[in-house]
Amino acid sequence: MASLNDSPVIWTLAKDLGIKKISNPVEEILNFCEKKVKKILKEFTDCNTLQGLLEAIAAKMNTQFCEIRDDNELETTKKRFVSRGEKIFANLDSELNDEVLGITFKLTNREPWERQFVSVIDCRGSKAFRSYFTKWHEIAHLLVLTDQQRLKFMRTNTNPAKIDPEEVMVDKIAGRFGFYPSFIRKKVKKHDLTFEIIEMLKFELCPEASVKAALIGFVNAWPGPCILAYCKLGLKKSEQRNLSQQSFGFMAEPMARLRAIEIVLNPAATKASFRIHKNMRVPNSSVIKYFYENFEEFAEAEENLSWWESSDGKRLGDIPIAVKVRRYSEGVFALISPL
Ligand SMILES: [Zn+2]
Repeated sequence: MASLNDSPVIWTLAKDLGIKKISNPVEEILNFCEKKVKKILKEFTDCNTLQGLLEAIAAKMNTQFCEIRDDNELETTKKRFVSRGEKIFANLDSELNDEVLGITFKLTNREPWERQFVSVIDCRGSKAFRSYFTKWHEIAHLLVLTDQQRLKFMRTNTNPAKIDPEEVMVDKIAGRFGFYPSFIRKKVKKHDLTFEIIEMLKFELCPEASVKAALIGFVNAWPGPCILAYCKLGLKKSEQRNLSQQSFGFMAEPMARLRAIEIVLNPAATKASFRIHKNMRVPNSSVIKYFYENFEEFAEAEENLSWWESSDGKRLGDIPIAVKVRRYSEGVFALISPL
């Protein structure tokens, strides 16, 4: 977040949006969008699901979603828009390459009753898992659309960090409203954070979201401190470096160990300094390790954060924790919260 806050591109975006006093542009841009979203919600008073929120904002941002499920649909969509004078659709197939998941075009020949924009969402093959987030990314572009210059950037890329800081910002906006905390918090007051609760809420509020996006989104929106760790076999950073520099096998190959290779700390965890560092080794005595090695379906245990130790021997704080584990792809997800 610090580096994004230091980016001149993000400062320019905040200025263009008319934000007067800028000190933390990322948070200020998110607040700017939140004001817009709250205003929209005043009009759509019966909107109480995230999917409904997505549709309400799409209507107010004047866009319609056009989902592409296979190559035939791509071809007919292209032809349909080109034949009515929307030349920008002519390169739709090359635009939607392996790295692009969605794109928003402004119609130049629209009928009076039509919406101004079309957000094409690529749902072919594995891209389908990301359709919910792609829709939110395209909507997020429109929420911060200040001038026509920005129209050309309205794409969803598989790796936004590679493209531009503004793309990372747009992803953050998508993440905030795709899993809007005020919607989620109304539902969770009585519950502890579990995989089952997240699954149930996903089904109720945003069935189109992928399992991984929902886990990250709900953890981020959770009112109490919580860490989501994705653990699988991996090397230490120094081992990764050595391995990439070493051209002959003179040294013993480093052994991959079970590590927390991806970490999501929600805002409440960050505030409380409740954290696990990225790439830390999973403690031998943790249920995460037992679960990973014994191919169980799910498990949970009460442990202590101080079991986690970095390679220089420093231990994390003495905090009793609840750990819940689920298998995902080649690794496991762990939900970790203070007891
Ligand atoms: Zn984008």
